[in-house]
Amino acid sequence: MPNRQDNLTPVTVIGLGLMGQALAQAFLRAGHPTTVWNRTAAKADQLVAQGAELADSVQDAVAAGPLVIICLTDHDAVHKLGESIADVLDGRVLVNLTSGTSQQARETAQWATGHGAVCLAGTIMVVPQQIGTAESLILYSGPRSAFELHQTALRSLGDAAMYLSADPGLSSLYAGAGVSLVWSILNGFLYGAALLGTAGVDASTFDSFAQQYIATMTGLLSGYAQQIDEGSYPAPDATIDTHLAAMNLLLHESETLGINAELPNFFKTLADRAVAQGHGSDGYAAMIELFREPPALKP
Ligand code: NAP
Repeated sequence: MPNRQDNLTPVTVIGLGLMGQALAQAFLRAGHPTTVWNRTAAKADQLVAQGAELADSVQDAVAAGPLVIICLTDHDAVHKLGESIADVLDGRVLVNLTSGTSQQARETAQWATGHGAVCLAGTIMVVPQQIGTAESLILYSGPRSAFELHQTALRSLGDAAMYLSADPGLSSLYAGAGVSLVWSILNGFLYGAALLGTAGVDASTFDSFAQQYIATMTGLLSGYAQQIDEGSYPAPDATIDTHLAAMNLLLHESETLGINAELPNFFKTLADRAVAQGHGSDGYAAMIELFREPPALKP
């Protein structure tokens, strides 16, 4: 390993799929002595050529150092593999970067703690190509002391590593909140491009307007956040009734132009319910009350 620095914490990476390989490479680039293991051993070849140690068994991999990163397909895979490493976990910090629900993250943390490990749950918010770069963002939750102890190593994966809370489920919940923003913005952009496309406006032309308008809209978030936290929804900008009128116009426009109206119809369905519940003269932040409800029972 050309850059290996033996004063840095040795790291083990278990799971060398697309993401695991990127994680191991980032540790190698940062100079950490890096041990790897994967069910399909051939996926370690390139990493070994770059200086990683390939452990003979998953137990040897865990035993190789104090910091063990696990990144598998899902929590079922972690639990299956977990049975074979339970006896060697004692005293290690296990960083579980496998995607899952908040409940799965809490269960895995509880299981690891039961075998003497300290478990940090992490959620990766970027693609493998961004790991170790300035754009990399990984969210961590679990014992703060474990994050602080290993933050130099963890920051090899991205300097913007963010510690959230002692609750190991919180990083998964933040990921859910993050992707809800992603899908809302992307679907809004794609619908807008389809709408403008009916008048011959290409998506690249829409792009510059969209970026400017998204920035304007994010300016509203802090005021809405304050209203949600206080539980009161005055309407200094526009009431839900006013939004609903605009949604009806957009729905009519879509139907007239012959483009898919599901997205504006979904917005209108929610706003109709808010109005039926007496929120018509409230500000838009009152819609939070709908999102807090359990799903309606199907007849
Ligand atoms: P991947 O390329 O499909 O790799 C999956 C890994 O899990 C492989 O190393 C595979 O081993 C291993 N695995 C699956 N079942 C196993 C089992 N029963 N026992 C042992 N090993 C098992 O997936 P990935 O893209 O690396 O994603 C890994 C995790 O990162 C997922 O939870 C994913 O949601 C998360 N993530 C990925 C991205 C991304 O852009 N790729 C972004 C954010 C988060 P084999 O090689 O032997 O099959």
